[in-house]
This record gives sequence, structure tokens and C-alpha cells, in this order.
Amino acid sequence: MLAESHFYFNRAADVLDLPEKIRLVLLTPRRTVKVEIVIEGDDGELQVYTGFRVQHNMARGPMKGGLRYHPAMDEEHAAALANLMTWKTAVVDVPFGGAKGGINCDPSTMSERELFDVTTGFVEQMKEVIGPTTDIPAPDVNTNAKVMGWIMHEYSKYAGFSPGVVTGKPLDLFGSEGRNAATGRGVMDVLAAALEEQGKSFSDVTVAVQGFGNVGSNAALLIAEQGAKIIAVADHTGGVSNSAGLDVNALAAWTTANGGVKGFEGGAAFERSKIITWDADVLIPAALEDSITKDNAPGVKASIIVEGANGPTTPEADEILGKLGVLVIPDILANAGGVTVSYFEWAQNVQQFAWDEERVNSELDKKMRRAYDAVRVVMKEFEIDMRTAAFVLAIRRVGKAAIARVHLSRDLKF
Ligand code: NAD
Repeated sequence: MLAESHFYFNRAADVLDLPEKIRLVLLTPRRTVKVEIVIEGDDGELQVYTGFRVQHNMARGPMKGGLRYHPAMDEEHAAALANLMTWKTAVVDVPFGGAKGGINCDPSTMSERELFDVTTGFVEQMKEVIGPTTDIPAPDVNTNAKVMGWIMHEYSKYAGFSPGVVTGKPLDLFGSEGRNAATGRGVMDVLAAALEEQGKSFSDVTVAVQGFGNVGSNAALLIAEQGAKIIAVADHTGGVSNSAGLDVNALAAWTTANGGVKGFEGGAAFERSKIITWDADVLIPAALEDSITKDNAPGVKASIIVEGANGPTTPEADEILGKLGVLVIPDILANAGGVTVSYFEWAQNVQQFAWDEERVNSELDKKMRRAYDAVRVVMKEFEIDMRTAAFVLAIRRVGKAAIARVHLSRDLKF
């Protein structure tokens, strides 16, 4: 994954003709912290885990990024995702840098008490390097509002009341209205902008969605509300389709009750991998990395892909989609709604003043729209695809901030 994010970065750096040394500075994480966490399990045995935090860049503000609990979590994953966060926060122009971290534990095999101990153990060891003005974690795979509440509590023991140390907190503990649906809402916003440009409206299009978790389900619900037909959805349990349009609310209720879309009676079942080549106008990959590959990309029928997930398209697939004329709205733009509302949450925490949901949503819609338009301008300036343009925009913003901080003996242009 690290190689892929570097590939996209370098493609944009070529457009800007960036010297090697500057590329190296912009790609190298500022700091990588690795800690050992030892807890006593419920069975009395010791459990040992490794926690990571990669702090990539803080030229534009405190570093920001999720915390993932997964057995496969390692430094390379954290580094790749931290890197993406730097460009994502710059594309939506929120005053943050990029970071990412995690612990190589498997929450599905752990009790809540064990998870609490792992989380507080992580914070105890990371407390000097995180904080509201340095690095602000948020939920990612297998972490949620409850875990963020624990982090806030533990960190506040050392630093005093600090709600701004994490975002994605419970509403009862200084979280923000609208945070839960924010990434899905951002997906809807950029799709609205793309359709408008093509002279279409939501009611003109059919949509296929891969992944029906936080991002996929909220995107599907909001896009269906706008009048589009969600004709196919797949998750890890299987796929379900209905050419007349799925009842997304009913599907969400079914998924909550049954742990997946499999068995939903409002549509026909299909094998989950077929979702990528589904005959729909819009495809929203909102599940895992590397879902669209050189093997399935030639069969893609959608004319617009909105990357709800991080890194769902491999570079080879990206090239194939470009040749097919598919408009790919890249992850660092399309799924930036979550970090945008995280910024609003942090701003509310700093001000000690809560916004209502209407304000959060309308500010989010504006931010996403502005980011989309700014990427469009760069696309036209260099006649490049949307992903490269998003990286160019981000590299310019980060580069300009970085050089404005220091005295340079020669002029560097971004
Ligand atoms: P989630 O755990 O809530 O949902 C993941 C979904 O993917 C589930 O529906 C799961 O069944 C499905 N899935 C897993 N394996 C699959 C497979 N082989 N085929 C089809 N579906 C499969 O996670 P999420 O928070 O919705 O995140 C999804 C993606 O979006 C990740 O790449 C994440 O990094 C990215 N993302 C999330 C947010 C956020 O705010 N939650 C923000 C930005 C990016």
C-alpha cells in the first residue's frame, strides 16, 4: 500500500516537476513511534501487543488520522495511511497534517475490559506525542466512539481536561453532531457535484455500493434520499440486488440485526465480488483496499467511481479505468467528509461551543464542494485526471505551508 500511495504522489510530483530532495522531504514521516503494550487477560495470562503511530507531516497544522485495531496492523500500513492523511486534509483545506496509527490486536477475540486496558496502555505510552495541538487520533477500522471516549479520559488524567485530543467521540462526551454520517455525506456531496457537471441529477442514475458499514451504508442512504436507485450492495457476507432499487433503510435495519446484507429478502442474492463490474452508472467502493484491480477493472461498467474506501483502486486498475474514460473521484477527496467533520468537532472542543447538526452538515457540504471545485481547476490547468489533480493541489498546499515556515536561500515554487 505504501508503494501505491508513493506512486500516486510521484505521478503528481512529476506534473509539478518537483526535485527528488523535495519529494523525499514530503514523503518521509516526521516521526514513527512504536510501543509495547502488556496487559493481563481475563484468563490471567499476559497479552503483549505492539502499538504504532506514524506522524507524517504537520506543515499545515496538528497531525490527524485514525487509530486501527487489527492483527495485520503494522508500521508500513500506518505509514501509507498517514501519508494519505496529509494529502487528504490538504485537499479539503482543514488546518491539519497527517498521521495514522494502530495496535496489532484482534478486538473480535477480546473482552471490553481487555480492550480498555490495551487502549489506556497505548495512551499512557503515547501521551507525550499526541495532544490537541500535536496529533489528534480518530476512529478507524475496529475502533469507535467508545474507544475515543476512553482515550480522552486517559489523556485528560495527565494533561487536564482535553476533549480536543481525539475526534469521533460519543455525543455525550463532546463528540459532534453529524460525525457518524459525515464520510457518507461527503461521498454524496462530490457525486452531486460530478452529476451536476454532466448535466444529470440523482434521479437519472443507478448506483452499486461495495461495503455497507459506516461509509457505504450512510452514502447509500443519503444518495437514495436524493432520488438515485441503489440497485446493488455487497459486503463481506454476500451481495443483494434489485433493479427497481433496494429499500436502503430496510437493508440497513437488516444488516444491523443480522451482521451483513446476506439473506435480505428485498432483493436477489449474488456473489459479492461481482459488485465491481455491476451494470450501474455509479460504483462506490466503500470496503477494503485494492478492491479494483487489473483483473476486474476492464469489466467496470460504471462511468463514475466514488472512492469511499481508502486505496480501493490499484495503480494498474487506475490506468485501465482512465483508458475506459471512467471518472474516478479519488479517496483523498471523496472520503474526506469524515476528517472534515473531525475538524469541526475539534474546533467545537477548542471553543467549548457545540454546533447543531444543520450547521455541521451545511459547513461540510460547502467544504466538500469547494474541494471538488479546486481539484477541477487543477485538472483543467494541467489536463490531468482527477486523482493526480487532487495530489497536485495537496502537494502545493503542503509545500507552500512548509516553505513559508523557514528561511530559504533560494526560491522554491509550488
Ligand atoms: P466498516 O468496518 O464500518 O465497514 C466495512 C464494510 O466493508 C463492511 O460492510 C464489510 O462487510 C465490508 N467488507 C469487508 N470485506 C469485504 C469484501 N471482501 N467484499 C465486500 N465488502 C466487504 O468500515 P468503514 O468505516 O465503513 O470504512 C470503510 C472504508 O472507508 C475503509 O477503507 C476506511 O479506511 C475508509 N474510510 C472510513 C472513514 C470513516 O469515517 N469511517 C473515513 C474515511 C475513509
